[in-house]
Parts: sequence; C-alpha cells; structure tokens
Amino acid sequence: MADEMCPKCGSPLSEITVTKTGRKLQRCSTGSWDPKTRKNLGCDYVKWFEVEPQELHEKCPKCGNKLILAFTRFGKKMKKCSTGIWDKETKKVIGCDYVEWINGTTQPLDEECPQCGNKLVLFTTVNGKKMKKCSTAGWDKVVRKPTGCPYVYWLKPSEYEQKSDSGGEEFLPPEPQE
Ligand SMILES: [Zn+2]
Ligand SMILES: [Zn+2]
Ligand SMILES: [Zn+2]
Repeated sequence: MADEMCPKCGSPLSEITVTKTGRKLQRCSTGSWDPKTRKNLGCDYVKWFEVEPQELHEKCPKCGNKLILAFTRFGKKMKKCSTGIWDKETKKVIGCDYVEWINGTTQPLDEECPQCGNKLVLFTTVNGKKMKKCSTAGWDKVVRKPTGCPYVYWLKPSEYEQKSDSGGEEFLPPEPQE
C-alpha cells in the first residue's frame, strides 16, 4: 500500500493510532502533539476512521436479533440492534430502533460513606473520570431526580491508580460533518 499524502501540506501521513476510546486516526507526519503546551505542532491534519461495530453475544430484547457495540463520534458507547440502520435522508431508524447507552462502570468499595455509613462504590465515567459515591444513591427516572444518599467524591487525576493520558484526544479538531 502506497503511503497516503496529507491533503493539507502534501507530507506523508504517519501510522494509524488508536485512541483510548477505541477510535482510529491518522495524523500528518509533520504534525505532533505537545503534551506540555497541550497544542498541536506543525500540520494539524487528522484523518478519522470509522469504528467497525463489534458484535455482541447478546440478543436484542425487542426483536431477538444480535446486538452490536457502537461508538458515537464523541466516543460514547452504546449497544444497538444489528438490524437498525440510520437513514441520513429521512433522519429515521430503519429496522429495529433498540439502543442501550453504556454509561460507565460501578465497582463496590470497602469504604463507608461519611454521611450515612453505607458502603461506597467507585464509579468510572465513559471518559475515564472516577468518583466515589454512596451505594444507596440512585436515579428516579419518573421524577428525574437523584434518590438516596447524595454523597459524591470526585477523584483528582493524581489519585487514579494508573496515570490517565488521553494523548490530547479532546483537543483534536472535530471530525468533518457528513
Ligand atoms: Zn499535513
Ligand atoms: Zn432489535
Ligand atoms: Zn451515604
């Protein structure tokens, strides 16, 4: 395969890299990310790749077909029905419209809530941010209000076990709109 050229400056493109949220991109070889200034140096051309949906061993609760794991352009994850196709012209879903958003993960902690004495849980958002919250806390979908104990403690990035480095993904130019 011949090296692809940057449409902005004509230099070859560098290797394909994969972001933390599982998205692939290729930068211009004359451009680089400076973690100190948190800015792009040189040419800022970035080519985004479509993320191939991943098939899951789960069945759609609506129609029984396979579910797939899909990503939005902002890296949010969702499970959706493999028969559902987005029609760009009519802006409607063709086929089954089942979608389940994945909102991060919860792990039980062996720590007690300073407010009510119940156990705390560690919640990791889809963006990798972490917070401790009370296991009695919930969300009432009917009244759209939090329920249970309101204790929340956001961890500072320095308190995470592993240093998280997004590689500056959030500072990349937005993907071109179709
Ligand atoms: Zn370039
Ligand atoms: Zn379905
Ligand atoms: Zn509590």
